This record gives sequence, C-alpha cells and structure tokens, in this order.
Amino acid sequence: MHPAEIKVLLIEDDEDDYLITQNLLKQISLTRYLVDWVSTYEAAEQILDDDDHDVYLVDYRLGREIGLELFQSPQRRERPFILLTGQGDQDIDLAAMEAGAADYLVKGHISAAALERSIRYAIEHHYTLQALRTSLRKHDDLAAAIDQISTGVVITDALAPDNPIIFVNPAFLRITGYDPPEILGRNCRFLQGQDTSSVTLEKLRRAIQNRQPFFGVLLNYRKDGTPFWNELSVNPVFDQDGQLVRFVGLQTDISHRIRTEEQILHSALHDKLTDLPNRTLFTDRIDQALIYSKSQKDLRWSVFLLDIDRFKMINDSLGHRIGDELLVQISQRLLESLGEDDTLARLGGDEFAILLHHRDSPLNAIYVANQIHQSLEEPFHVGDHDVFVSTSIGITLSLTDYENPEDILRDADTAMYRAKDQGRSRYAIFDASMHDHIVTIQQIETDLRRAIAQDELRVYYQPIISIATAQLVGFEALMRWQHPSRGLVPPDQFIPVAEETGLIIPMGEWILRQACQQMNAWINLGSATQNLQVNVNLASRQVCQSGFVALVQSILNEYQLDPKHLKLEITESTIMDDMNVARDTLEELQALGIAIAIDDFGTGYSSLSYLHRFPINTLKIDRTFISKIDTHESDLNMVGVMVLLAHNLKMNVVAEGVENETQVQILNRVGCEYGQGYFYSRPIPAAEIAPLLETMHFPIQPEKPLP
Ligand code: C2E
Ligand code: CA
Ligand code: CA
Repeated sequence: MHPAEIKVLLIEDDEDDYLITQNLLKQISLTRYLVDWVSTYEAAEQILDDDDHDVYLVDYRLGREIGLELFQSPQRRERPFILLTGQGDQDIDLAAMEAGAADYLVKGHISAAALERSIRYAIEHHYTLQALRTSLRKHDDLAAAIDQISTGVVITDALAPDNPIIFVNPAFLRITGYDPPEILGRNCRFLQGQDTSSVTLEKLRRAIQNRQPFFGVLLNYRKDGTPFWNELSVNPVFDQDGQLVRFVGLQTDISHRIRTEEQILHSALHDKLTDLPNRTLFTDRIDQALIYSKSQKDLRWSVFLLDIDRFKMINDSLGHRIGDELLVQISQRLLESLGEDDTLARLGGDEFAILLHHRDSPLNAIYVANQIHQSLEEPFHVGDHDVFVSTSIGITLSLTDYENPEDILRDADTAMYRAKDQGRSRYAIFDASMHDHIVTIQQIETDLRRAIAQDELRVYYQPIISIATAQLVGFEALMRWQHPSRGLVPPDQFIPVAEETGLIIPMGEWILRQACQQMNAWINLGSATQNLQVNVNLASRQVCQSGFVALVQSILNEYQLDPKHLKLEITESTIMDDMNVARDTLEELQALGIAIAIDDFGTGYSSLSYLHRFPINTLKIDRTFISKIDTHESDLNMVGVMVLLAHNLKMNVVAEGVENETQVQILNRVGCEYGQGYFYSRPIPAAEIAPLLETMHFPIQPEKPLP
C-alpha cells in the first residue's frame, strides 16, 4: 500500500512555503514525491473536482478564503487532505479534524519525517474508507440490510490514531441526529457529552484498551444536546494476521424502554394522588436510615406520623373530590416545612409520614412539628370553600435502638394517638412510658385471651335495694377475673384493655349469657323472685356492634328469660360516641321490652335535656355524688335536683355507692327509689345470694319517708 511515487497537490498562497515544503519532501529518500502547486483558492476550486492527486496539502488561510472550505462538498470530503496552519492558528485543530482533514500541521514546525508520516496516514486512511465502501457495495444485500436495520451501526478504524469513525448507517444518524460529515473521522466520545465519569463508561474505555468486546447501557447525547439511553455493544474485529483493525459498535436507543420501566417503578412506589412516596418506599427509606445510623452513630433523625384531625368529617361533608384536592394541597404545605433530604410520604387516607434528618439536635423535630402546625393555620381554598385543617403528630426519635421500620412506625402511631387524645393539633413524642403502657396492654391482652379460653372470668352480683322498703329489686352483674397467680382481679384492671382491644365483645356476650342464665334460675325459685331484674353493663363497642339487638334477643330466647328481667346499663359517653346508632339500638332494645339505665350519671356530659330524646328508664347517679350527700350540702342539693329532673322525664333513680345509713335516709327523703352500695352488700358470687332470696329484704329497715 505504499506507492513508490506519490502525487501531491499543494494549495498555498505563499511561494516561500511552497519551496520549503517541496524541499522537505525531497529529503525523503524511499518515496518520490511529485509536487504540484496552485496558489489561489479560485484556481484550486477550478481543478479539484476533476483531479487525481494522491494527497492534498492545503493552507488554512488562502487570501481572504479558508482553505478548509475547498473540501466540504461530499465528494471532495473523501479526498485525503492535510491542513497546514500558520503559527497562532493552533486552535483550529479540532475544526480541521471535524471538517474531515486527515491531519493538520503547523508551518515552521514541520520535520520531513512528520510530514511523511502524516501523508502516509492520510493516504492509508483514505484507502481504508474506500475499501470499506466498495466492500459494502460488493455485498449489496448486506449493505442494504445495514442501511435498513433499526440498530445503529458504527465502525471505527482501530489502526488510525484515536480510533476515528469510518462508517455509520442511517439508523445511527437517526438516533444521534448527526449528518455523516459531522462525525466521520471523529472519535466516538463526542456522544458522551459532559458525562465522562460513569462506571459503565470506564468499563467501555477499558474494553477498548484491552481489545475486548463491551456491552452496556450508557447515557449519550444527540446533536441537539438531548440525552438518550444507548444500549451499546462494541466488538473488536481482527484481520487474518490477528491484528486489530476495527471496532464495530451496535447501538439501540432504549430511552423509551427505560422510561416505561422508570414509570412502572415510580408508580409502584408512589401515591397516585399526591405523587409522594408511598408506604413501601417510605419503609425502605427508614431501612436505609437505620443501616446508615449503624455506621454513623451521630446521625440523628426522627419519624413523624401525621393524621389530619376530623378529615372524615371534611370528606363526608364536602365530598371526595374536594377531600382529594385538600390532601394534595396539604402535602404541598407539609413539604414547605421540610428540607431537601427529608422524605414526606402518604401512607394512605389522611395519614402522612415524614422521615426528618436532624440538622443539630432532637429539638429540630419539635421545631419542625411546630412549624407544620403553624403552616396549617391558614385556611385552604378548595373549590368554593375555605377549609381549616389541623393535624396530630406522633414522633419517634432515632435515639432508641430500633431494628426495623415497622417498630418505628408503630411507636409513632402510638404517640400520634396520644397527641389526638390530648386534644388534636398537637404533637407527642414517643417515650418509654408509652412503650411500657403498650407492653402492659399487650400482656394483659394475651393474659385475657387465655383467661377467656380457660374460664377464669367470674360474675359477681351486687344487690339493688328499694330505699323506702329495703326490698331486694335486682342485681348488677359485675365481672371479675379469677387470675391463677394474681387472685381476684377487679374489672378496672382489665375492662379498659378489653375495650381497647375489642375483647370486650366476646366478654360482654359471655356475661350477658351468664346473667340471663342465672336470673332464669333465680326466678324459677318461686313467686317471691318474680319481679327481680338483672343489670348488665354494655361497652360502647357492643352498642355499635352490628346485630347486637338480635344477639340479645337470641340469648333471652336461649335462656327463656322474659325481657322485663333484663336491664342494660350504658354511659353517657357511649351515647355521645354515635348518637344515631345509640338511639336506634336503644329503641330496638326497648321495643323488645328491655329496660335501659344511664350509668355513672353526673360524671360525663350530664345533660338531661338531650337524654329525654332517648328511651331511658333508669338514671344511676354516680358514687362521687352519693358519697358526699351526708357531708356536703351542695351534693345533697345536686342529687335532689337530679332526682326531680329524672322523675320529670319518667325515669326512676338508683343511687350508686351507698355506704351508710345517713345516706340512705337522705336518699329516701329526696325520693330516690333505689340504692346500691356496700351499705347493703358488696358484689358477691351467685352462691352467696341465696339467703337474700329467702327474705327478699335487706335486714335493716330505714326510717319512713318524710311526708
Ligand atoms: P360500675 O358499672 O359503675 O359498677 C359499680 C362499681 O361500683 C363496681 O365496681 C362496684 O363494686 C362499685 N361499688 C358498688 N358499691 C360501692 C360502694 O358502696 N362503695 C364503693 N367505693 N364502690 C362501690 P367494680 O365491680 O369494680 O366495677 C368497676 C367498673 O367496671 C364498673 O363500674 C363498670 O364500669 C365496669 N364493669 C364491671 N363489669 C363489667 C361488665 O361486665 N361489662 C362492662 N362493660 N363493664 C363492666
Ligand atoms: Ca354499671
Ligand atoms: Ca356506675
């Protein structure tokens, strides 16, 4: 490939430079150079299209013209040409290469050897390109295939310095947005834009250096600067002698696929409505924080759990669309209180969570909590409404050694409920005492489940007595727990837990059965017991339980007990929990012939004005009033008024906690019908009730009522 005679055309407007160049070429002994010279741009322009020199040396500046321009037509671009520049024109090297020059040389710094090397390379490069073109032309089918496939094909010349591109197919041009003249002769790295430091890129560089194949996905840039994901395979091609001659790159723009994958991933980890991270992603973030703080002990963070106060009410009254819009606006305001590396997530419904990185101390959490409350003070404008919103925040600090995100969220949840209990629009930080409380509750719950399974629950009966006649009128059934190690446990120590955990539902059903069964047995003793009534306490959860009335009915049927022997006790707060449900349930119960008593009257809302709307037969005045009627006149008066009002509403009255005879006398004087208390009897097991049933009277006869 090294012809013995090389025809050179020098395009140069300075005669001195022509002479110098000719002289240099004469010094090369192996090859004979025939140098022709044209001295103007115009002269060159006239002869170039129809010319057969082997190589062209062209001056960058030709009078007022730029020599490079001579070689910009597609046809001339394929000629091997070398650019000669004056001193101070060094900056044009890149432009020269881009314009398709095989090389460029700075005049005055050219040695004969350098000039020769440059010419050789230019010619070789030219032949390679031509060979490739003709070989592709020879294999017409293959060429057509390469022209038409959607995979981009790029071939580089591994023999030439800097591995220049010598072939690209239309797909490559489509993907990258370049035209052939802009890329032929250049190294592929212009596709990489400014991102020159990715791991994959480093792998690609190493593969090329080691002449090994490469496969990977790179972020590349199109001509217009837009990025695309390039799935690229690069294969080295060797000739018969085992010399590396080419690299063939095959590339596919997989941006679309990556985008879809990203979208799928995104939607799996984000909330649709607010586009915030969802529970899965949030849990993952806590996981990472946990791992991170294992190695970096001073790293502190906290987890907030936020629940919008009374959101259900807003949603129900304004509609779900407004509710959704409100949630979006809330999420935006919450974000404003957070830093860039904090995470706000929507866990569902009106529940948000925050992973907050403390910039200095745990006080940071308090500061942010206050900030959030403040930020919510301004009303939200949704639709035509101004909506006021507050939130209760539960906070877990990373100070405790947690092992998993679930524990952290659980504790934040506990603290959040504490905040709600304390009156909403508050925050509460989870602490050990809350933890202890929960552990105790959990223990009692487990214990209680066992107690139910192993029949450790008992019913005690406390007599209810007619104050005027000292006659036995009925009992209140009260639960006890015969604990194997703790002995007889009073209900205060387990009923609240049963209510919190829902165990009260099976337990309540159990005591109702026991009481009905027992009552049936007592009534069947004879005529004296025919009018006895048994009171059973109902928890709020039972009243709200669907099918509760039917359950009571079926229990009465089962034990063949006339409904008039049953009275159910509920508190005012049970009624207030859900007035509509309570009224419906109570009315149905009354329709069955079951009596209703209001328990602990005086400790709750104590508004007789609303009670008249409910079907109530009996008012039980709380022990706290009765215990002081013999010492405090105000309590005496209060009880007097309660009795009067109850009678006005056609209710009879039971005084709870009657402990001495003075109280009995006072109660008798104010017209209170019934009494219940230690003065008559403590709650006792059914077996001990028997003697009372024989006399049906309490042993002491109180004095006669005043006229
Ligand atoms: P309660 O319904 O107000 O029941 C009356 C409580 O006052 C009983 O406490 C009774 O022993 C106590 N007591 C009665 N007379 C006197 C007295 O003269 N002086 C004093 N200091 N106390 C007196 P007990 O049995 O410990 O029950 C406590 C509470 O547990 C009950 O208050 C009731 O709210 C709840 N409870 C008990 N059994 C059940 C049940 O089966 N279901 C439900 N839901 N709650 C129950
Ligand atoms: Ca009661
Ligand atoms: Ca009571």
